[in-house]
Amino acid sequence: MDWYPRHRRDLPWRNTRDPYAIWLSEVILQQTRVKQGLPYYLDFITSYPTVQDLAAAPQDEVLRHWQGLGYYSRARNMHHTAQQVAGEYNGQFPGSYTELLKLRGVGQYTAAAIASFAYDEKVAVLDGNVFRVLARVFGVTQDIAAPASRRTFQQLADTLIPADQPAEFNQAIMEFGAIQCTPAKPDCLFCPLQTECYAFQHGMVQELPIKSKAKAARTRYFHYLVLRHNDTLYMRKRGPKDIWEGLYDFALQETDSAELPAAFIVDTVEGLGGNVATNQVEEPTTAMRHILSHQKVEARFHHIWLSEPLTPEAAVAAGLVAYSAHEIERLPKPIIISNFVSNIRF
Ligand code: SF4
Repeated sequence: MDWYPRHRRDLPWRNTRDPYAIWLSEVILQQTRVKQGLPYYLDFITSYPTVQDLAAAPQDEVLRHWQGLGYYSRARNMHHTAQQVAGEYNGQFPGSYTELLKLRGVGQYTAAAIASFAYDEKVAVLDGNVFRVLARVFGVTQDIAAPASRRTFQQLADTLIPADQPAEFNQAIMEFGAIQCTPAKPDCLFCPLQTECYAFQHGMVQELPIKSKAKAARTRYFHYLVLRHNDTLYMRKRGPKDIWEGLYDFALQETDSAELPAAFIVDTVEGLGGNVATNQVEEPTTAMRHILSHQKVEARFHHIWLSEPLTPEAAVAAGLVAYSAHEIERLPKPIIISNFVSNIRF
């Protein structure tokens, strides 16, 4: 608490008590670090100054603003929550931790952050930074990835948080973890907690917190058929139950390896009712890689020029729509698709 006022970063969401702005910042900061998240926050709060504005926006537009942050289900949940607040709660965020938990996509962390920052409710936040600081300072050796450990850490944090300054305390411990007691190189030499820090005193700074390893990510091989006709590209909106729901990509074939038989492309296009012009199937691009939390995507793009457009029936059956460059720019896309499209010459 003494350290915080002298070291805190001046961030826009710290100068407000508006639960909407605080919620927005927390949803974004769960995805990324402060530096990368700041432009997204400013973009969202400018584009949608109130929860009603966000609720009324088309989902595609919201996903487009979110583009690059990844984990798009968060953006969809965020949009849904905005609609819930605007509709069921008359545009007012619920006024307590317990009530906030009833909102979709609002978990314990976000509810605690909003309740303490906006309403000064005495409820301790637990995020990765807080887990790390507590594990090191108090020498907690429980696995922070195990759900059962949460109660231990929550009880500990609850004993520390002062009733008269809960918001300041939560901000302080999170900021302390973010800039002083960092994961790889904590600044122990100039740390005010050095003499009482269990990890420092016992030479365990690099060992704490204990976190079990996540399962190895599996690799998925995506072969994109980039069907082109005149100045348009055929794209489709991705469906549920897989990554990138609601974002746009191309006709896709997923395989177990990097290889895709050449005949397959021609067969697929003919099956779609398109005519592949002679010599107009290019070699695939070199693989572009994208790492998600539990999987790696290795994508190759096969440019295919169609001499005729797809028949309307075939396009509908495959969920494909021809878009111009201008239209594509406005569609929400996975970053790997966005990067690919930005290098295309129309
Ligand atoms: S002494 Fe090091 S490990 Fe302990 S709280 Fe300070 S920065 Fe963190």
